[in-house]
Amino acid sequence: MLEITSFRGRLALWFAGLSLLTLLSVGLYVGHLATRQMAVTAGESIHTTAMAAADLLGANLRERELEIALLSQSPLVTRGDLTNPDILFSLEQRKKFQAEFAWLGVADVDGKVVQAVNGMLQGQSVAKRPWFIAGLQGVYTGDVHEALLLAKLLPSQASGEPLRFIDFAAPILNRGGKVIGVLGAHGHWNWVTDTVKAAAQRLGSESGSEILIVDKHGTVLYPQGLLDRARMPPTMPDDQAYATVAWGDGRDYLTSQVAVDARTQTNLGWQIVVRQPLDAALQPVYALRLRLAALGLAAIVMFALVALRLAQNVSQPIEQLAAAARQIERREGTPQYPTNTRVREVAQLSQSMQSMTESLLQREHDLETLNQTLEQQVLQRTEALATANGQLAELATRDALTGLYNRRRLDEKLADCVQSGKRVGRGFAILVLDADHFKRVNDSYGHSAGDAVLQQLARMLLEHTRTTDFVARYGGEEFVVLLPETPHQDEALTVAEKVRAAVEHATFPQVGRLTVSIGISLWSPKDSNSSDVFKRADEALYLAKSCGRNQVVVSGSSA
Ligand code: GH3
Ligand code: MG
Ligand code: MG
Repeated sequence: MLEITSFRGRLALWFAGLSLLTLLSVGLYVGHLATRQMAVTAGESIHTTAMAAADLLGANLRERELEIALLSQSPLVTRGDLTNPDILFSLEQRKKFQAEFAWLGVADVDGKVVQAVNGMLQGQSVAKRPWFIAGLQGVYTGDVHEALLLAKLLPSQASGEPLRFIDFAAPILNRGGKVIGVLGAHGHWNWVTDTVKAAAQRLGSESGSEILIVDKHGTVLYPQGLLDRARMPPTMPDDQAYATVAWGDGRDYLTSQVAVDARTQTNLGWQIVVRQPLDAALQPVYALRLRLAALGLAAIVMFALVALRLAQNVSQPIEQLAAAARQIERREGTPQYPTNTRVREVAQLSQSMQSMTESLLQREHDLETLNQTLEQQVLQRTEALATANGQLAELATRDALTGLYNRRRLDEKLADCVQSGKRVGRGFAILVLDADHFKRVNDSYGHSAGDAVLQQLARMLLEHTRTTDFVARYGGEEFVVLLPETPHQDEALTVAEKVRAAVEHATFPQVGRLTVSIGISLWSPKDSNSSDVFKRADEALYLAKSCGRNQVVVSGSSA
């Protein structure tokens, strides 16, 4: 699953999610309320229509029945002579004014029609007709029925529907209170249905709604089209103004049922039923829901945009801070700090980060400078140390009194010379020089005078040898000169003689004259080590001493 990790993304998600949740809850709640309200409105509307139609029909029926009852009690008929032409005149007048009556007539007590408008059925027997039988007993209003006797006499309907009538009847009593006949009337069924239709139209019918007249058995009396196709569903609750019921045609109808209270002598038990297909009744609800959904969608888009913008506003300075921190971390140029934030904490954070970075950078710079200085100092110290070490090493190889090489360095040099002699095959010469009777100098002039003599001797040795020659103080008043690459004794002898003579002729302050004895030896490839050649030189020196001093003796030759 994709996980949003950026601050901005998370903020936007939260904002959008919260607003969506709010919107959804409000939308659903409003939708629910509106649906309920609209269903109530639709139900009440059809109930009102049903009540109005039932009232109107009830009043009309009562009026007709009353009319017939009044006619039956008019003095014209109660006089006893049903053949009186004034009766017919009165009936015809009545029919002229009220076209709803298709037939009006009087029958004698045996059921023979005595007089009737337009002479219809005159002389025929209606003794078996229910209205006549009931009319003998009292005022009667009968259920709708198809015309049996009159069908042939009256013009058929333009719609092709069968003629149907509703019967009214009232007994005719003579002045003695005896029943002498029945006054009957057939009202056009159309008159009844027109009453209902008018009521429905006056109230403005709801979309798809139908108005029905149902008899006490639940049979549909009107409209004609539904006669055999619909029956009042028994599931319709009696105690509710309206309800949603199934009519057995696969559709649910919002249905309202109101009894027609005609307050006539015979209770017809008719009901006015107004029904409206549920989906048609709830059409405005669906439309409202659609509008709500569209509105919600628009609001969601708007909220999402606002959420994004808000998230951007909030997160931008933090993103800038993060970028600045990254830049500082990677040492990439000058970091850009957020400047236009109105969030106090972010502004403070930005400010603190800026000054913190500056002080850190300053400290880093200081440290770098300090480091450089330290490195330079270390370098200088190292150099000084190296120099000192060099000097120390030099000192370690030098004799403190004369400055000549000391015995240790002589040993090394001697070993080197032996090595190169062996490698190249060219020999070297070694001169061992000792001051004659030096003890006396010390004894006579003091040790420091002796030291001065030793120093002068050293200088003279350096003077009379080449720079490539190696001059060392071997110890006490004894010196050694190494002549590298000097394979022949003549050369060595010349040098030794030059030195000896120079010393002999030199004057030493305080001390005066002094002589030296010198022993010489030449390195031979046969020498196993350096001490062999040195030993021979020493022996030659000894020889020189023993032969009277102030002499040069070469090892291996007679002095
Ligand atoms: P020879 O002719 O046989 O060599 O006699 P010599 O007196 O020179 O020899 P000896 O070995 O008996 O004496 C050497 C003297 O050198 C002894 C010592 O006092 C002196 N001497 C050795 N080293 C130093 C030094 O560094 N300074 C001084 N002033 N005298 C030294
Ligand atoms: Mg000596
Ligand atoms: Mg000596």
